[in-house]
Amino acid sequence: MRRGPILRLKRGRERARAHPWIFKGDVADVTPVEPGGVVTVVDAAGRFVGRGFYNPRPALCCRLLTWREEAIDAAFFARRAAAAVAARRRDGALPDGVRLVWSEADGLPGLVADRYGPVLVIQCGTLGMARARDAAVAALRAAAGELAVFALDDPVAARLEGFEPAAGWLGPPGPERVVIHEAGVRLAVRPGAGHKTGLYLDQAENRARSAALARGRTVLDVFAYTGGFACHALAGGARAAVCLESSPEAVAGARENFRLNGADDRAEVRAVNAFDELRRLDRARARFGLIVLDPPPFARGRAALEAALRGYREINLRAMRLLEPGGHLFTFSCSHHVGEADFEQACREAATDAGARLRVLDRLTQARDHPVILTIPETRYVKGLLLEAT
Ligand code: SAH
Repeated sequence: MRRGPILRLKRGRERARAHPWIFKGDVADVTPVEPGGVVTVVDAAGRFVGRGFYNPRPALCCRLLTWREEAIDAAFFARRAAAAVAARRRDGALPDGVRLVWSEADGLPGLVADRYGPVLVIQCGTLGMARARDAAVAALRAAAGELAVFALDDPVAARLEGFEPAAGWLGPPGPERVVIHEAGVRLAVRPGAGHKTGLYLDQAENRARSAALARGRTVLDVFAYTGGFACHALAGGARAAVCLESSPEAVAGARENFRLNGADDRAEVRAVNAFDELRRLDRARARFGLIVLDPPPFARGRAALEAALRGYREINLRAMRLLEPGGHLFTFSCSHHVGEADFEQACREAATDAGARLRVLDRLTQARDHPVILTIPETRYVKGLLLEAT
């Protein structure tokens, strides 16, 4: 096979055999290659390691797409897309709200693709992937059906990588609003608007679980976004639900979802800062039988870790004090920089301060369509506990 441009790793920097990330400091030399082009990665002795897109601009200069002797061409994208889509089928059918491609976890670093009914939202996070966007889209449509495609690149990644972030329909536009079905609950999505690509698909399975613990209970859904947890809890027979959410679009989305599920008479959304409202509810001695804490990532970088842990302690302390005896608490962290042990320690300290005795019913993680790769620990980022007040 013609090798094209070659990136040679330094001696002892061979972690790339198992992990796709190559940093500038790992590189001995690179033969001429245009930014975003494919390089063949070899070890210090010249032995083949893999192939990936190269970009001299960011510190993370190459992410391996393959460890096999295969070309990165249309057929490669077709194989990867077919495998990723096949892994998401349930009894032969694709769910209507589902992550089809999740970057490194699907062997397509820099590419995220989410399906919302007739729409595919696609997000490129590297220059190489942005240049390969058409091939990726063609492959995904061949595997998942003729979906309308909305391109929505992350502007932060685009700036880092040096490309213009796409934001808009590629080809014929699809519907502005889609209603997806998630374990019997209807959720409205505006593809490409709102947070992430439209929904927090990573929490789909945890949302569905909340239904089974909700019957007859008063629910507090903290950091609610469009009220997905509350909708499932209400579908499961909750008496009432209160959502706390600070973003006005999300508050409107939550109200829309309650209407869609015929539950608006039992649900209330408060447009508030959750920290303040939790404190107020605590002072007012409010009580709830089911509480969900699903905050945004508190630690955007390593330096923010201490402040993040303080944040987790604070909200968990409040929630634990608000929990009825026998009540359940779903508590999460989606910060990449907060490990499972750190998060549990923060919850343990909160329980100690709250004088709460809580049984760990389960440890939770992200939905199956965000798979975890053993050798790529960064692929596991949602950590959660399901706790029961004893
Ligand atoms: N549980 C949601 C996802 C929550 S994401 C779901 O399943 O869809 C975190 C949410 O917290 C975002 O919607 C964000 O707008 C909101 N948020 C961030 N900071 C907040 C604050 N201080 N008070 C209330 N909401 C906040």
